[in-house]
Amino acid sequence: MKHFSFFGFFRRDPAGARDLKAARNSRNRRIGLSQLHRLWSAIAYPFHRSIHIRFQYAFALAILGLAVMAVITVVSGRALLNTYKHSVEETNLDITLIGRLQESLREIDHLAYIYLFEGDQSARSRFKATEKTVDTQFRQLAAAEMHFGSDNHAHSSISLPDTTLVWQEVKAEMFNVLQNTPGTTEANTKGLARVHATVDPLYETIARYQKLSLQDMQARLQSAQTVGGQAFYAILGAILVGLGLLIGMGLAVGRSVLRPITKLHEAAHKLVKKDFAHRITLHNTRDELGQLGRVLNIASATFQRLHRELELRATHDGLTGLFNRASFDAQLPEQCGIADRHERPLALLMVDVDFFKRVNDDHGHQVGDQALQAIARLLSETTRPGDVVTRYGGEEFAIILPESGEDSAMAMAQRLRSAVEYAGIDCGTGKDISVTVSIGCVNRPPQTLTPDELVKASDAALYQAKEAGRNRVVSAGPLPPATDPIPQIIAA
Ligand code: GH3
Ligand code: MG
Ligand code: MG
Repeated sequence: MKHFSFFGFFRRDPAGARDLKAARNSRNRRIGLSQLHRLWSAIAYPFHRSIHIRFQYAFALAILGLAVMAVITVVSGRALLNTYKHSVEETNLDITLIGRLQESLREIDHLAYIYLFEGDQSARSRFKATEKTVDTQFRQLAAAEMHFGSDNHAHSSISLPDTTLVWQEVKAEMFNVLQNTPGTTEANTKGLARVHATVDPLYETIARYQKLSLQDMQARLQSAQTVGGQAFYAILGAILVGLGLLIGMGLAVGRSVLRPITKLHEAAHKLVKKDFAHRITLHNTRDELGQLGRVLNIASATFQRLHRELELRATHDGLTGLFNRASFDAQLPEQCGIADRHERPLALLMVDVDFFKRVNDDHGHQVGDQALQAIARLLSETTRPGDVVTRYGGEEFAIILPESGEDSAMAMAQRLRSAVEYAGIDCGTGKDISVTVSIGCVNRPPQTLTPDELVKASDAALYQAKEAGRNRVVSAGPLPPATDPIPQIIAA
């Protein structure tokens, strides 16, 4: 049973599935995966299509990572600096206020003394000014009081509102003292003692406030340190994420660019070394490197074909398809060497078409060509697979017969001669042409004639066949060692 899914896929139910719900779930999962795969393909398409886009992606991501790192660094740094700044400013203010208040209180103490015991009348007016200053400083301290933690106040013997009340008592005491007549009297000594008695707790409280302020500053610095630590980990995290992104992108780009480049490099080397059969297999054939790989494969295939053609042209004759003269010249010494190594005989037949000029003259060169092709076919078909049939030149053919003694070589030569004689050559005019061949046959026992001497001997035998009336085979007969002159030809 086939189902057509919403996304255009044909899906088959699991064979024999009884639990329809399970089958549906499994199908949905597959569709979900295929959707994800499609989505990923759509996203990755431009990435696979171009190295440029790949590098742009990588660059954009690296920039993004660095930008995120920079933003986090700036934000964290600012938070840290603000916390420090705020903390220092606040604490500074508190400590400055307390310091000034302490100075003012000392001044009051001093004024009482210089009035009572030195008779300095200016102490009265200076007290009025100082009293206003202290009032203001208490108000400022009250405003700053919010910066002390509530726990700290729990340990204070006098709270800030209490100190203000005590200050009122100090003021009252000072007014009393300033009414006294200056001089070293008991009343003045007692008055100064009362001023001290009221001012001293104030001092103590103020000193305690100072201590609290310092503790507060330490707490603030502690919290600033915490923020600093958090900022450090945030920056470290951002740097690690950024580095991870960069390394990931670097690996991905490296894999998708460097591997194909290595393969292309290898393929180019193979091409230079004429290994035209080598082909590149690349995972991604859509991008520039993939296309380059395809072009390189096409180039290799073309070179392979051209090389084969060149090789064929260099070793074979274009008209008949037989080995050419150059091939014959290369193969004859080779075959002689093999025969000598194995102590085996070898024979050479030199075949020449009789009166071939007449064929051309009577029927034209095209028919002459067809005749040569037909004769070449006959020679190839009649000889054995190991025999080497070559077009020696013009209408002459040379045939190397490995493993052939004199008798079998002569028998082969006769077979060839009669095959040509009785084969009609179709020249396209509806009337077959008859041609004959003359053959010179030389048998070469191992370690005897050189290739050149062998050719000369076969040529001489062929000449004898022509002289004797053509359409015949002449054997050179048993030959003396290579240095001796060519012996008498025996007509077959
Ligand atoms: P003989 O029996 O003495 O060998 O006589 P012949 O006419 O065959 O010998 P000759 O050397 O006088 O002529 C050889 C002719 O073969 C001349 C040349 O035009 C012809 N010939 C050589 N090569 C080709 C070829 O490739 N195609 C054609 N059509 N003719 C060729
Ligand atoms: Mg000839
Ligand atoms: Mg001829």
